[in-house]
Amino acid sequence: MSTDDLDRASGATAPGNADGDALVEVRGLTKHYFEQDSLWDRLLGNDPVAVKAVDGISFDVVEGETLGLVGESGCGKSTAGETLLRLEQPTAGSVRFDGDPVFDLDGPALRAFRRNAQIVFQDPFTSLDPRVTIGETIREALDIHGIGTREERNERVRDLLERVGLAAEHFERYPSEFSGGQRQRVGIARALAVEPDFLVLDEPTSALDVSVQAQILNLLADLQDDFGLTYLLISHDLSVIRHICDRVAVMYLGELVEIADVETLFEAPEHPYTEALLESVPRAETAERERDIDPLAGDVPSPRDPPSGCRFRTRCPKVIPPDDLEIDQADYREIMFLRDRVEEREISLDVIAEEAGLPARDGGEFAFDERQRDRFVEQLRAQLLDVDLPGRHERTVDEALGLLADEEWAEAAEMLQAEYESVCERRVPELAGDHPVACHLKNPPEE
Ligand code: ADP
Repeated sequence: MSTDDLDRASGATAPGNADGDALVEVRGLTKHYFEQDSLWDRLLGNDPVAVKAVDGISFDVVEGETLGLVGESGCGKSTAGETLLRLEQPTAGSVRFDGDPVFDLDGPALRAFRRNAQIVFQDPFTSLDPRVTIGETIREALDIHGIGTREERNERVRDLLERVGLAAEHFERYPSEFSGGQRQRVGIARALAVEPDFLVLDEPTSALDVSVQAQILNLLADLQDDFGLTYLLISHDLSVIRHICDRVAVMYLGELVEIADVETLFEAPEHPYTEALLESVPRAETAERERDIDPLAGDVPSPRDPPSGCRFRTRCPKVIPPDDLEIDQADYREIMFLRDRVEEREISLDVIAEEAGLPARDGGEFAFDERQRDRFVEQLRAQLLDVDLPGRHERTVDEALGLLADEEWAEAAEMLQAEYESVCERRVPELAGDHPVACHLKNPPEE
């Protein structure tokens, strides 16, 4: 498929654009890693498993802005940054840089892109070669691109060292002589050496002491003004995002869920995931307090098999019950959680039967009389539900638990699904609108 086909397939405009010209246009960007994909796996008949690290994201980075990409660890931020720079091979989608289709470039046009779009990595300890002097490290890209004479290149490196808050005399020193903050200044000088227009900053301060973080962020902001740079700042840290971003894109399990300017995002977030991220910050800092109502409780599901519909629905405190259900949110979530466990067959019936004092299996099957089966259902309810459900729902759930007691897993799951299926699992929410939010609460789907 050509880039233009991909553009059309994934929609030509990005959601939630700020004013100004887009320097980077990302459309439907997708990166799947494949596991169990070796020759050996094929011989064993193992099917490859796709890790959907980035799954169809679209956004623009406008000239001169800092766009933040935020989300919990593992949600695909770094993969997105590396794929859009063509450091990783994309699975699908397109990226235009200053109008040029990045994934179709070769020869001199590709070299020009490699100069213009640079990356600063997270870890200033592993990203610098300990055997190479600071000056040579920064000069390397100038050497590769054959820019200027050797003396001009050295002169430029000395200028850059001063520009990032180091000294020209540091040229001959080695990384081991520098602190984390100083090394990150070297990383930034190295990225700037070839005069790029665009930098991907991948967690640029998360390996540094808090006291040094602000200095590096301020340096990045100054350099942006001086050199007219455009940034994509990747961070899981909301205080970093707030410090220097103009707009923010929030990512969850390979997808974007909200894009907004930085004030709106912090003052009036609309996606339940963004709200939970913002709420989880003070709690994390105040250690134990209110831990039991951590808004981001539960694990991020695996990107190998992400939930259907809205990917956040399995952790969402606002998941939408069916219209006619008359059930409060906490009860509904409890039933959804039970349903997940039934669907995944993550319930140990033997252990629960034993706890109820019931006889073990005989010839592979439970053989309970009616009273024992009732006791089993009661024990299942006590073990699997943390709340007392109101009458109608208690009856429905008991019926499903009855099927479970008979080891009719699929029937129990089907029954719970028929009664309690949410629109959030049936329909993928679209990221649309002036303040784009991919949530059915914000943009109710037509059913
Ligand atoms: P983030 O930057 O948000 O922490 P990443 O982009 O590093 O997230 O990772 C996204 C997902 O892709 C994670 O589940 C991670 O385990 C997976 N992943 C990243 N790199 C690879 C790889 N080379 N092979 C397989 N899976 C990978």
